[in-house]
Amino acid sequence: GRNDAPDYLKGLNPEQRLAVETTEGPVLVLAGAGTGKTRVLTTRIAHILATGKAFPSQILAVTFTNKAAREMKQRIGILIGEGNVEGMPWLGTFHSIGVKLLRRHAELAGIKSDFTILDTDDVVRLIKQLIQAEGLDDKRWPAKQFAQMIDGWKNKGLGPADIPEGDARSFANGKGRELYKAYQERLQTLNACDFGDLLCHPIRIFRAYPDVLKEYHKRFKYILVDEYQDTNTAQYMWLRLLAQRPQSSPLEGEVPAKRAEGVAAEGTAHSSSTRTSSTAARTPPDRASPGHPPLKGEGNPRPSSTVNICCVGDDDQSIYGWRGAEVDNILRFDKDFPGATIIRLERNYRSTAHILGTASHLIAHNEGRFGKTLFTEKVVEDDEKVHVHAAWDSEEEARAVGETIEAYQRQKHNLNDMAILVRASFQMREFEDRFVTLGLNYRVIGGPRFYERMEIRDALAFFRVVAQGADDLAFERIVNVPKRGLGEATIRQIHDTARALRIPMLEAAAKLAESDELKPKPRAALREVAANFERWQKALETTPHTELAETILEESGYTDMWKNDRSVEAPGRLENLKELIRSMEEYESLRSFLEHVALVMDAEQNESLDAVNIMTLHSAKGLEFETVFLPGWEEGLFPHQRSLDEGGRSGLEEERRLAYVGLTRAKKNLHLWFVSNRRIHGLWQSTIPSRFLDELPEAHVEVAESGNSYGGYGNSYGGGSFASGRGGRQNPYGASRFDNVGAEKSGSFSNTYATPGWQRAQANRTEATDRNWGSRSGH
Ligand code: ATP
Ligand code: MG
Repeated sequence: GRNDAPDYLKGLNPEQRLAVETTEGPVLVLAGAGTGKTRVLTTRIAHILATGKAFPSQILAVTFTNKAAREMKQRIGILIGEGNVEGMPWLGTFHSIGVKLLRRHAELAGIKSDFTILDTDDVVRLIKQLIQAEGLDDKRWPAKQFAQMIDGWKNKGLGPADIPEGDARSFANGKGRELYKAYQERLQTLNACDFGDLLCHPIRIFRAYPDVLKEYHKRFKYILVDEYQDTNTAQYMWLRLLAQRPQSSPLEGEVPAKRAEGVAAEGTAHSSSTRTSSTAARTPPDRASPGHPPLKGEGNPRPSSTVNICCVGDDDQSIYGWRGAEVDNILRFDKDFPGATIIRLERNYRSTAHILGTASHLIAHNEGRFGKTLFTEKVVEDDEKVHVHAAWDSEEEARAVGETIEAYQRQKHNLNDMAILVRASFQMREFEDRFVTLGLNYRVIGGPRFYERMEIRDALAFFRVVAQGADDLAFERIVNVPKRGLGEATIRQIHDTARALRIPMLEAAAKLAESDELKPKPRAALREVAANFERWQKALETTPHTELAETILEESGYTDMWKNDRSVEAPGRLENLKELIRSMEEYESLRSFLEHVALVMDAEQNESLDAVNIMTLHSAKGLEFETVFLPGWEEGLFPHQRSLDEGGRSGLEEERRLAYVGLTRAKKNLHLWFVSNRRIHGLWQSTIPSRFLDELPEAHVEVAESGNSYGGYGNSYGGGSFASGRGGRQNPYGASRFDNVGAEKSGSFSNTYATPGWQRAQANRTEATDRNWGSRSGH
């Protein structure tokens, strides 16, 4: 009976409980944000363990991040009592489980079990060698670009033999396939593999050695996957191999190439028809009691060909298309696993009605989607609408967010319960700086803090040596960045000289450059380094420090290094460098800026500390917070111009899903911001509020009247639009909006919130027009 159900089942609603208790056969939970999908997975594992259906080692659970895996382990421990399980399920990301598999069977992939996993840098270096060995011009055919291509192929599960002819031809005068093959051979000699191999090797092993695959079929009785909407083709193939038992899979043994291409082709061809067909309607209502009664204990292999796989996901939260994720994988689940129980969860337990209403209304603007109903019964005291705020620029935005956070803090809210979710990582800088000034603890999740990013550390190292020639640590970091052919031997020589003469490394380098102790090539390189620093140090006295900083990054070749870099991260790194230069404007000198940075870097990043969370929207998937701040809702930033340029309509829809992910992270309080001016790519631009703001439902949204600097938006919202003029791309506020707002800036900030915006703006108008705000080009 239901009443004596174990505690862990009691709080679940009937659909959730169905998803937990339907342990046998394929199950898909397709449901919106905050409906308890992850909770279902966790409870399902607890249930399987508590009822003795399987040992922990017989469960395979895939999460999207390592952090999610850790949390899930913890939750399972709590649900069934730490002492009740021995060991833990195979629980982790596709990659971490891939490593585990590959260590066991490395020899079948032609490597040894102590193989190394190469990072992107290693991979690129290796490819460059191969390109050069082929006698090709590595400027014309950049290694980064090829690394990216290989990664793309591996995401699709394609080996050298399988790649499309067109792809192979498009690189290095038709040598693409050859190079890819040479690359794989090289990895093998190095006893190494790259990230893609962590999936592709196991796939190949499973296909080539059916008895190995069978071993895992026997081992894994239950397979669970979170965030299924973001699996890429290789992950999907890997899962199907593990999940589909011979009886149910006539496809078994098919060659990799065919399978992969088939999947990819179907994936695209199907998208619209699959999505509109209603899987919900086909969900058999009588699946509540599955045909196969659960078997207890370990020694009973299931006689049936059903697969106990449970995937949960939300097509509206597919946000990794740009990395090869195939949302169609989730939409064709019932084709892959016939007889699947498909469960919809409609009750959202996370958010208030205003937040949920806002998110649902926004995502309804996407076409190709399943469409779902979501409701919430969450009642909170002083239920607030979603707030939309306007700010003059990102500095004011950060300041105002800081003030709001402090206000919440005074009302006894924990910082831990608040998060700032940004579209692009460069946006973090302003918040981090502000919080350090305020003494507010913060942590950056899913990536380094702004000043800890590789490109920022590199740039800072250049600046530090210029400001303080004896900074050997900084010098060592960048003496060979970008690569100038200074090997370890040369660096050691610089060290030795410095120690022997008791001088800084920079000086030692200058001395060595003039001696004949070095070979001509490193000597020339060192001479250039020394000359550069001498020139920059001199300029420090005469040139404005931001200008000098830009010059340093240009002349050192550092900016070009990233401009020539074809990796997905490169544009973001360039944005970060621009943001770094921008941030220097607020300081009087290079030294005072570096001092500030040292203080920021010193701020503690302690997991157990009460701290505001800062992260990108992408890394916020699956998480939830009491209070969420979403800054930067402007055209070009969100939706991001790059997605629009590269992805067209589908790019826009992916951006909208990202917005949906952002909005649905909030439990109770949600604040959106847009600014009128943002420095993008180093240029001031007057910005247009994001089209997504127009897509929010008036009934659930409140434009902060008092908090914004110009009542114009608040008033016009009633008329239905944030950017009513966007249709023809003519900005209704035009230059005058810009100037008016400019007036705000020149006026005193202390009374920004006291006087109605327009009036003050008028008063200060002349002052504003005097200011030079740089480029005002819009879009
Ligand atoms: P997302 O799509 O964002 O990953 P999700 O569907 O995985 O969301 P969960 O994170 O599992 O949703 O659940 C959202 C919140 O609702 C969590 O705080 C969870 O504990 C809570 N919750 C889920 N189900 C119930 C329930 N039956 N009773 C009470 N709270 C619930
Ligand atoms: Mg989840």
